Amino acid sequence: MAGRYQSVLLFGAPGVGKGTQGKLLGHIPGFFHLATGDVFRSLDKESELGKKFLEYSSQGLLVPDEFTIRAWQGYMQQKIEAEDFRPGTDLLVLDGIPRNVNQAKIVDAHIEVLRIIHLKAPNIDEMVQRMKKRAETEGRIDDADESVIRRRFEVYDEETAPVLSYYDAHLISDVIAVGTPAEVLMQVLQAIVPVYRDHFGNPLG
Ligand code: AMP
Repeated sequence: MAGRYQSVLLFGAPGVGKGTQGKLLGHIPGFFHLATGDVFRSLDKESELGKKFLEYSSQGLLVPDEFTIRAWQGYMQQKIEAEDFRPGTDLLVLDGIPRNVNQAKIVDAHIEVLRIIHLKAPNIDEMVQRMKKRAETEGRIDDADESVIRRRFEVYDEETAPVLSYYDAHLISDVIAVGTPAEVLMQVLQAIVPVYRDHFGNPLG
């Protein structure tokens, strides 16, 4: 289908480091990083979408698809109009969407998934600790409470993990998210750079 954004998905359980990798990638010319969690957190807390976000995220639940897709599309449109994201030359690095199979079907009309980076961490307890620490430093209400964090993992297993089976297995690159951000980034780049070259060539000639 013409006109779909060429995209890479950062996929993995909460706290595995998608945001860290996404932000690093977003600094590289030619990559545009978009995290739906950041989109939601940037909303006015008194707006309809902002209220929905607080209502669901504070319980460790997914925001209903209708609101999520609306927030995502609105943000994409703004970024395109501001020329922060240039669909013809930038690879879209999506982090946090799609988070269930229904969202995967909906975003299919807008994105062409070229690769899925499946970040895997062997130790869940370590991730929970990491998320609690992050909640303190970033003031994230959804990760302040251990029972909410545990609920987020359940939601991941029940609703998000099945998204992987929706896509062709050959699109998926498993990356073990252990080590420093730079070490993990090296593996992520190994999977993404060939995809970028195939679709956009070398912008510097
Ligand atoms: P994150 O920063 O990606 O961990 O997202 C924080 C919270 O935002 C999640 O726990 C959800 O409540 C909400 N959220 C983010 N992305 C989505 C999505 N694609 N679908 C539904 N809810 C989402």
